Amino acid sequence: MSDYGFDTLQVHAGARPDPATGARQVPIYQTTAYVFRDADHAAALFNLQEVGYIYSRLTNPTVAALQERLATLEGGAGAVCCSSGHAAQIMALFPLMGPGRNIVASTRLYGGTVTQFSQTIRRFGWSATFVDFDDTDAVTAAIDEDTRAIFCESIANPGGYITDLDAIAAIANEAGIPLIVDNTSATPYLCRPIEHGATLVVHSLTKFLTGNGTVTGGVVIDSGNFDWSASDKFPSLSAPEPAYHGLKFHETFGPLAFTFHGIAIGLRDLGMTLNPQAAHYTLMGIETLSLRMEKHVANAVKVATWLEGHGAVEAVTYAGLPSSPWNSRVPAICPKGAGSLFTVTLKGGYDACIKLVDSLELFSHVANLGDTRSLVIHSASTTHRQLSEEQQKAAGAAPNVVRFSIGIEDADDLIRDLDQALAKASG
Ligand SMILES: *Cc1c(COP(=O)(O)O)cnc(C)c1O
Repeated sequence: MSDYGFDTLQVHAGARPDPATGARQVPIYQTTAYVFRDADHAAALFNLQEVGYIYSRLTNPTVAALQERLATLEGGAGAVCCSSGHAAQIMALFPLMGPGRNIVASTRLYGGTVTQFSQTIRRFGWSATFVDFDDTDAVTAAIDEDTRAIFCESIANPGGYITDLDAIAAIANEAGIPLIVDNTSATPYLCRPIEHGATLVVHSLTKFLTGNGTVTGGVVIDSGNFDWSASDKFPSLSAPEPAYHGLKFHETFGPLAFTFHGIAIGLRDLGMTLNPQAAHYTLMGIETLSLRMEKHVANAVKVATWLEGHGAVEAVTYAGLPSSPWNSRVPAICPKGAGSLFTVTLKGGYDACIKLVDSLELFSHVANLGDTRSLVIHSASTTHRQLSEEQQKAAGAAPNVVRFSIGIEDADDLIRDLDQALAKASG
């Protein structure tokens, strides 16, 4: 299957006619449990000696089809879906971490991820050190003997910044720890982090992958390339697991060790499961991923270029513009385009931003991104409202900045809407 092109795989990977009915589309297996053939079959499943379906907190055929499709599109060995992008981040870290362990994370991350890493994970005894990932010496210097992963985004939210994944992967490799890449803003159509040395790829399915603002979901994809037994740093994967009679995940499952651990321990005990209905919507969405991303990128280039030339605009951060300092990374990291998220700084400051957001008619003022619809948010008065002005600036959410997620409508209609709203905002 994997020697087919992306457009073929996004439609076919993970899907086969339903063995019971011949249904061509992947059915929604809306069931909690699965009948065992007999007591021996049940015992083999529970001992992980046979792969099959037990209970939908762990595995479900609709979710399994989606997992196989996502693993294929990212070029990974296996994938585990979860209930949200944030759940996927915890599921990715869980087998690697323990009390006293830390991760080294980029300062340029989705706002919710900064909160999860700087505050919530401390409750587990984990911590994060944030550094500028363009300063590779600082990344290396931040790694200590308790570091268990490096975490960054390929194209970083709120838009504009592109990580030099090859350089960061080389540092992770040297330190003998995995690189985790959040590929939400790029999708596997624009960027394939595993080809740049990532060990794990996480996504919020909520965004471009489902693509139409209907689902909250996440996924962890494992490259299958990391040697979990090379050191004693990852005992969850390399040492005997008491809950499974001393089974060693890496020794037993090889390149699928992380995926099996994610299901057999992660989903079993943390319970952050994706439901089959949500998996179905995401499978539908992925069928058109490349078509949508082409249009998202083409529209973002047009709209960002137009905005950059507008008199009321001070700056546009889009990496697809030649003016962006990250533009030179596009050919290597995301050759099909720099996505469709960016921020715009208005000369009129906070008041102009509020007026712009209130005057736009086609753009929706929402906290989401990666929808077919064009979206806008003034972060300083909404998602980043609780932060000081200094913190807002550091997060790319200064009072004079709005964030755009460009949809797949007619670019000329989007520009017309922006034109009338900017006139009101600067008038
Ligand atoms: C939205 C988002 C998340 C969180 O995903 P949820 O599905 O909302 O939990 C994580 N990373 C990035 C880059 C995102 O855009």
